[in-house]
Amino acid sequence: MEETELVRTNDPGLRRSFFLSLVALLVAAVPLFGDTNQRQVTKLTDGVYAIQHKNLNDGNPSGNTTVIIGDREVFVVDSCYRPSFAREDIAQIRQWTDKPVGYLLNTHFHNDHNNGNKTYLDAFPSLAIVAQEETKKDMDLIQPGNIERGPKQMAATIAALKQGKAPDGRTLSEDEKKQVQDLLPGMEQLLAEFKTMVYQPPTLTFTDKLDIDIGNREVQVKHLGRGNTPGDAIVYLPKEKILVAGDLLVYPIPYTYDGYPAEWVQTLQNMAQLDVQTIVPGHGPVLHDKAYLYLVADLFKSAVEQVRARVRQIGHPGFHSLEDVKGSVDLTPFRPKFAGDDKDLRAEFDDMTVHLVKIVFNEAALR
Ligand SMILES: [Zn+2]
Repeated sequence: MEETELVRTNDPGLRRSFFLSLVALLVAAVPLFGDTNQRQVTKLTDGVYAIQHKNLNDGNPSGNTTVIIGDREVFVVDSCYRPSFAREDIAQIRQWTDKPVGYLLNTHFHNDHNNGNKTYLDAFPSLAIVAQEETKKDMDLIQPGNIERGPKQMAATIAALKQGKAPDGRTLSEDEKKQVQDLLPGMEQLLAEFKTMVYQPPTLTFTDKLDIDIGNREVQVKHLGRGNTPGDAIVYLPKEKILVAGDLLVYPIPYTYDGYPAEWVQTLQNMAQLDVQTIVPGHGPVLHDKAYLYLVADLFKSAVEQVRARVRQIGHPGFHSLEDVKGSVDLTPFRPKFAGDDKDLRAEFDDMTVHLVKIVFNEAALR
């Protein structure tokens, strides 16, 4: 995924852009091309549902959505990547209840969790869109540009692919051309959808916490510290012992393209203090204990400690490069715990650790 790095670092505005992940994927090895998981709804308890969205082979997996229904109103966690998926979710919510969605939380600023904001606001005009204050700042900074540039970039990518080229001009192999044929319909559908997209920022921000009673159901929104982003928010239902974690937890392989790993460890430890039986991760299936939470915390802690051990040897990391550090970090003992014997997952794990070590080093170098 080296090319991914080039795409992401050429422009700081793009570094955090999920929109370009498709372009990055096409330039790189396209490991996700075969993914065709279906939309899946899991009932967590009466009136609480987790929705995993389908993957339309466009290279952009959508974040999970959680629906919490109270006696008076509904609280939704994350509006996912595609407005059309958000419309599907809203139609399903209306089958579950005649109560309006009163609150929509954006767990963090990445657009695979909030592109559907406007769709929800159109459907429920009195809706409050909630986010931690740093998340709103990042969304205001990054999303309008994403929405403006995105369709042009995607149209250019589609044009290149139709001519048998990758976005960087490289000629596609025969195998890649076949994969592209599967990909193009989904991409064209996504392009049409993104041309009509409008940025909708959060309308209600908080710093540390926000407790909301939606009618015989208490919803606690918390910022437990930085992790995946500066403004990560989680949702905790104390009575139901349910935690909605956002991308602080992504299953089965953590998301590590950006973030604050040393603080992330602490944030995960704060999460582990909550009395929880069910965890909805930002992506992937519902978890029924804290084992994965502890595993991710252990992985990040090990990466941070190994980088710190190396920094003790070489001195201020600000005067060194990632090259001076990465050879001293070995995270392979964790590989079977995350990936088992699955070849693709093992490759995904290895790719993840490359990025993890990089963000650990970047965090350590910021003195
Ligand atoms: Zn995500």
